[in-house]
Amino acid sequence: MELKNKRVLVVGLGKSGIAAAMFLRRQGARVTVSDARSAVALAKEIPALLDAGIMVESGGHGLLTFRRQDLIVISPGVPLDTPEVKQVIGYGMPVIGELELASRFLKGRIVAITGSNGKTTTTTLIGKILQDAGLPTQVGGNIGTPVIDLIDQSTDKTLDVLEVSSFQLETIEQFHPWIALVLNITPDHLDRHGSFDNYAAMKARITENQQAGDYLILNAEDKPTQMVAAKTKAQIFWFSPRRPIKQGTFVHGESIMFIPSEGAKAEPIMPVAEIPLRGSHNVENVLAAVCAARLAGASAESIRASVARFKAVEHRLEFVRCLQGVDYFNDSKATNVDAAMKAVAAFPGGVHLILGGKDKDSDYSQMSELLRERAKAVYTIGSAAEKIERQLNGVVKMVGAGTMDLAVREAHKAAVPGDVVLLAPACSSFDQFENYEHRGRVFRQIVNELS
Ligand code: ADP
Repeated sequence: MELKNKRVLVVGLGKSGIAAAMFLRRQGARVTVSDARSAVALAKEIPALLDAGIMVESGGHGLLTFRRQDLIVISPGVPLDTPEVKQVIGYGMPVIGELELASRFLKGRIVAITGSNGKTTTTTLIGKILQDAGLPTQVGGNIGTPVIDLIDQSTDKTLDVLEVSSFQLETIEQFHPWIALVLNITPDHLDRHGSFDNYAAMKARITENQQAGDYLILNAEDKPTQMVAAKTKAQIFWFSPRRPIKQGTFVHGESIMFIPSEGAKAEPIMPVAEIPLRGSHNVENVLAAVCAARLAGASAESIRASVARFKAVEHRLEFVRCLQGVDYFNDSKATNVDAAMKAVAAFPGGVHLILGGKDKDSDYSQMSELLRERAKAVYTIGSAAEKIERQLNGVVKMVGAGTMDLAVREAHKAAVPGDVVLLAPACSSFDQFENYEHRGRVFRQIVNELS
């Protein structure tokens, strides 16, 4: 892809947008960036962009800016139905995302992970396992380092392990993973993707350019994920915590097993009991990661040792402290109903659950049965509180706490030894916090100050 002297517009100045703009400039493109936020809000970013010779449009998008381009690179945070974007797509202007742009320059082979939940945990795990196995590996994407920033270090031998979101997959064209994983597809981001079918179709795009020499790893227990099998040319591997499968990973008795091809002998990888993470969802993440790592060439012994050493990623069912016999867990990253349910299900009972934040058109009544069984009380916070209280009315004791501070204090008062206070809010955080990390840090701090 020749970029020299091309006019390129980057829309959205998040981490990946800035990285894309700088990369394009280094390639000799004539770069403009456009962001809806004001110049004041972007005061930290603008000087470096101007210094690099990049033009900046802030405080909104101008249609003229959009029309005078050869290529538009759109950030995952910017919806494709933004009016200016929609117009230029209508004129036939090429619009791609940072993932697509980066993957055209990235050397080596791509291992790409998508799914509604578990992406970061599984991506981190695969990265660690491959690194421990001595394979040349780098990790990026939706997690930490933008894919663009992996280009310079990549060689033909590199394994590029990438976490990819449905938003990033919405703007791919040639993106071609060697190994692709779809962990699960459960309702999330319906406010932006419109319907569950649209959202599931976006996730399935991870395999659209795969060929017969590639691998697609799917969750055998998740219906919408199973459907992706019909859309691929790649060799399909399944993972299942429940039953033996013909090709892939599964739990048999106390052990995780791997079958490299149909009819081959099952190879034991490790005892399930050695997984250091809580919850059955993490067994699924490990099964998916083990399958990918075996296909990428890591040995069973090496995989076993890396998994056993793995620590929960921050804000993912992270243990905070035990106070007066009560355990406090931070699962601030549980930003949808399914993730929050997995978190609750990781405990046998006695759960004091902090729920709420910014609603994403979610249906909280799905939690009723599980909460009846395992929760002692729900403490609601944020703008979704009223909806949650309405949908879970009569299911479990409900405390309208409003703020994180009050929620933690009320839970602390009510909890008795053996109970668990769990932040797994099932909502995004943007009504009261900068992001889920901020929310998790605030929770941790309040918990650590309890006495
Ligand atoms: P993602 O990057 O997809 O958001 P994370 O690994 O950050 O995934 O986990 C997000 C949250 O989802 C966790 O806090 C946990 O509650 C839940 N979770 C993790 N793995 C799974 C899974 N395989 N299935 C369902 N929920 C999961």
